[in-house]
Amino acid sequence: MTRLPARVVLDYPFTAPASDGSVVEVAPGILWARMPMPMALDHINVYLLRGDEGWTLVDTGLNTDTGRARWEHIAATHLQGLPIVRLVCTHMHYDHAGLASWLCERFDIPLYMTLGEYFMMRALSQPEPDPLPPSQALFYQRAGMPQERIDRMWRAMRQDPFMPPQPRSFNRLRGGDEIQLGARLWRVVIGEGHSPEHACLYCEQDQILIAGDQLLPRISSNVLVTGIEPEANPLQLWLESLTRLEQLAPDTLVLPSHERVFRGLHARTQELREHHTQQFDLLRARLQEHGACTAFEAMLCLFPRLRGPVDDMLALGESIAHLSWMRYDGMLRREIDEDGHYRFRLADVPAAQKINH
Ligand SMILES: [Zn+2]
Repeated sequence: MTRLPARVVLDYPFTAPASDGSVVEVAPGILWARMPMPMALDHINVYLLRGDEGWTLVDTGLNTDTGRARWEHIAATHLQGLPIVRLVCTHMHYDHAGLASWLCERFDIPLYMTLGEYFMMRALSQPEPDPLPPSQALFYQRAGMPQERIDRMWRAMRQDPFMPPQPRSFNRLRGGDEIQLGARLWRVVIGEGHSPEHACLYCEQDQILIAGDQLLPRISSNVLVTGIEPEANPLQLWLESLTRLEQLAPDTLVLPSHERVFRGLHARTQELREHHTQQFDLLRARLQEHGACTAFEAMLCLFPRLRGPVDDMLALGESIAHLSWMRYDGMLRREIDEDGHYRFRLADVPAAQKINH
């Protein structure tokens, strides 16, 4: 995720809870808590929704002992004598679903997810084989990333300390589904691009959106192309999803998965669109100045301050997502050079006139 300079002033009506199991009530029967994360982005927000028969949890935090202890504390302290009755995971990323298996067993509750998220989570529960299968290896070779940097990236991915156990069953959520929790009716609004079938929950009557990673106040969510679907155009799906969110009421109280609860939905979607336009402009300027480039070279242009192999993975995927969007839009052409790398060049410049530096 990229932290953006805060240009648009959003309204933050609440002070965030500490990541110690305390909660903030953001509307009657809606509690906001934070789970700690041992990384630069040091927390994830989780929400508890009170219904007639008990609490619905939204998202889980990472699969860590600390996370489990925080949930035990919340369950013992803040539930007003009601049980936990279900878990909803907005999407499969393991800061959101890492404790799904544990929570479902610990509190004997069902898991609700979309089909796309549940099965992507199951599919990614095993680390990639070593060496990488040919289709995966080819994806990184085409990107022009040096082999030692690819190896370093996959070594880090295979040592992932947070790989959670997988819940073995789920209840399917679909876009447009409605869930009645107490006096509130929540509608499932699907977002795409950050993950395959991300569920947001919207309460029209109270104008509250549980946004997951689909709308964050200060960071831009990762939108990646990976070797799983090398020809995907997730940025198009992401921008279309922003359009769907723009149909919601302007005064909507947005409950995001990171940073603070805010108002200013339309200002924020506009700012995110501008961020991606700036990335396109940077790439166009790079191509105008230096001629064709690989995805790896585009990554070094868009993300000059990468701090390690996990950053590499995210930055490369995000760079390809921008290149792919420009290619599908007709701005860029893609060809394979003699080294087997894809090279991208501006579509309005004939190949013969370009000089590769
Ligand atoms: Zn996510």
